[in-house]
Amino acid sequence: MHPDPLKVASMNRRVTIVMYHYVRDLAHSRFPRIKGLSLDRFRRQLDHIQQSYTPVALEDILEALRSPEQELPPNPILLTFDDGYNDHFATVFPLLDARGIKGCFFPAAEAVLWHKVLDVNKIQFVLATVPDAMALLEQVLASLDEFRAYYPLKTRESYLAVAADHRYDSREVIVLKRLLQRELPEPVRTEIVHRLFAEHVTADEAAFACELYLSTDQIACMRHHGMHIGSHGYTHVWLNHIPEDAQAAEVDRSLEFLRTFGAAGDTWSMCYPYGGFNDSLLAILRARRCRVGFTVEPRVADIDADSPLTLPRIDTNDLPS
Ligand SMILES: [Zn+2]
Repeated sequence: MHPDPLKVASMNRRVTIVMYHYVRDLAHSRFPRIKGLSLDRFRRQLDHIQQSYTPVALEDILEALRSPEQELPPNPILLTFDDGYNDHFATVFPLLDARGIKGCFFPAAEAVLWHKVLDVNKIQFVLATVPDAMALLEQVLASLDEFRAYYPLKTRESYLAVAADHRYDSREVIVLKRLLQRELPEPVRTEIVHRLFAEHVTADEAAFACELYLSTDQIACMRHHGMHIGSHGYTHVWLNHIPEDAQAAEVDRSLEFLRTFGAAGDTWSMCYPYGGFNDSLLAILRARRCRVGFTVEPRVADIDADSPLTLPRIDTNDLPS
């Protein structure tokens, strides 16, 4: 039977998907300068969400994607949490559980399994420890000289021009992040990030990782209580910047990780690290029957107009609190 076009036209098929990273009591934490949402603001945001929106679970979105006649509740909202931080168990989970809200959580498998601090997080904690970002950038640019004999590096000027102004970060911070996340050759940036983290934050990466990320038991517990656990890749790289076979390996290894929690079944989801995806990655996901994918394109999602594998998400900073 075909859906009634008049009914379909008036149906609510739009959903606000919100993206969170750190959510913690920043003032009472060891790194108060880390860029995150404070516990107070999160509580206020949940109050606002419950007053103005209807929190939905991923299953509700999947159901709406499956059937064109499935209406979503008024002002639906889905909460998603990236990177698998311990914050999500210690701070977020109890509050969601108490309010009956089902969130989606996307841990990076390697960080959880092997107690490795992701490069993206090392950079954040270095920046939270060293107030002078310009001095850090100078330190990075100066250290490039020792790698020039082995790697085809660009000039200092062209590295300084890799980024323009940005919404949340100063220019030197965004240049630093771009260089250390993807501009420099992989072995060079890994080494530089490793050194900065050891010098400014801690030399004990494994202990830091154990504090920073969820444990497998915590993930299993959250899933047991109705939270959705999805893929955020294995090593949290820009998936659109690696070859196809490496993309497939990232996806398959992250699926293996999800399988240990029973979370790799027919409702599995993908949350692209840094929002990075391309056609070859989407084909890999389709071949593995991935149902839904989350980007970082900041707008409200439209179940009918958007592709299920590239749903947009707004940042928590764009929600009032
Ligand atoms: Zn991430």
